Amino acid sequence: MTTAILGGGLSGLTLARLLHEQGEDVIVLEAEPASGGLCRSKTDQGFTFDRGGSHIIFSRDAEVLAFMRRMIAGNEQTNDRHTKIFYKQRYVKYPFENGLSDLPPEDRFFCISEFVKTLIAVEKGELPLPSNFREWIYHTFGKGIAECYMVPYNEKIWKFPTALMSLHWVDGRIPRPPVDDVIKSAIGIETEGYTHQSVFSYPLDGGIEALVHAIAHPIEPVTRTGFVITSIMKKGHQWLISDGLETINADRCICTMPIQHLIAALENVPEAVVTACNSLTYNALVCVNIGIRGTVPDISWLYIPDPSLGKTNRISFPSSYSRHVAPDGCSAILAEITHQPGDDVAQMTDAALIEEVTATLETMQILTRDQIVYSSVERQPFAYVVYDLDYQKNIAIVKKYCEALGIPLVGRFAQFEYLNMDGCIRSVMDFVSSGTHR
Ligand SMILES: Cc1cc2nc3c(=O)[nH]c(=O)nc-3n(C[C@H](O)[C@H](O)[C@H](O)COP(=O)(O)OP(=O)(O)OC[C@H]3O[C@@H](n4cnc5c(N)ncnc54)[C@H](O)[C@@H]3O)c2cc1C
Repeated sequence: MTTAILGGGLSGLTLARLLHEQGEDVIVLEAEPASGGLCRSKTDQGFTFDRGGSHIIFSRDAEVLAFMRRMIAGNEQTNDRHTKIFYKQRYVKYPFENGLSDLPPEDRFFCISEFVKTLIAVEKGELPLPSNFREWIYHTFGKGIAECYMVPYNEKIWKFPTALMSLHWVDGRIPRPPVDDVIKSAIGIETEGYTHQSVFSYPLDGGIEALVHAIAHPIEPVTRTGFVITSIMKKGHQWLISDGLETINADRCICTMPIQHLIAALENVPEAVVTACNSLTYNALVCVNIGIRGTVPDISWLYIPDPSLGKTNRISFPSSYSRHVAPDGCSAILAEITHQPGDDVAQMTDAALIEEVTATLETMQILTRDQIVYSSVERQPFAYVVYDLDYQKNIAIVKKYCEALGIPLVGRFAQFEYLNMDGCIRSVMDFVSSGTHR
């Protein structure tokens, strides 16, 4: 019995490892020259940058967190989160509702008074239940926090109107602030939000790829890279998986690559399934990596909601996670720009993107141009699932079809869900323990 695992990102590699540990015969088929997907990292001129945007290791799931930390044992640095939001030329503590005392007084008043008014209106049943993400933001945080931060930041990262986004995913993902915390934060008493992330781990050496390397180690001999799956057919009880040059036979196949690539590789897919799949929305990502001589602010990462500051939605400082990711005397800055496939950002040259980010960092007084000693650009075609209002209808059609075909979907873009690394590993563990692959 051979199981082919389509895609060799974190999900595919973890799945292969766990099945291999159970004595199963597996092969991982990965399109890129190296496995790891969004969790790859690149070391160049003494700087190490995560290629799929800045990653940290954290989880509410104790078993999964223990697994990830075991994988990087001996190569782990733990850090306290120092995350900020750049708002009106000042640093506001993250999450925003825990940083209200950092706001100018008039904004602080606007946020707290609208938060309390909204709370009272909700209690009295005067506000209708929210029916989309934008309404949920106003309903949960009030007009002040919504308009100062939540709506501008979310529209910048999702590149999608929040009023056209579903709200089925927000619980557990976007922290719901306890009233006491918001009031304390407005009057200047320190509070922490999103606490399961307030301490996080990062590999000392090798960037986040060190985690997937460690997971992948036992299954390296059965991992085929450079194999771009273009066709998947079933003949009798066998799956024939091809890259156009070579065909691999397998008894079972499990998909961890984007669902769009799976549907495109299958034959005779009903029109309704193709349409539903093509309607699923997602964002691509550009990462601009900058190495500088000198230091950066003592911040883990920084959200930039203000559209007038440029296209960057988040900046992280990897050299604050591990001193080993930048040469002595230097610091690392990773700027993330989400965008829609094929849009104006997709058309920009690397030089134009580096200039765009440099200008933003100068305006924010994080660097001066003459400090820059390194720059490079990475592009990821699949970065974030965007939950539009038709998401649940469309994904149900596609998943039902794959289920009937007998191809399980595991991972961020195979399940087409906003899963972090811990969510992917949980999906893999649950899948393996359910025994549905047998
Ligand atoms: C900006 C950003 C920041 C993030 N930060 C964090 C964080 O701090 N902490 C955290 O826990 N998670 C974070 N994540 C999420 C994390 O990256 C993902 O959960 C995880 O990497 C998904 O792994 P995957 O294997 O499911 O998908 P992927 O990594 O997308 O892997 C899919 C694989 O399929 C391959 N493939 C595609 N098409 C084909 C084909 N035709 N043939 C063969 N192979 C193919 C791809 O090359 C890829 O290797 C972040 C994500 C982003 C975008």
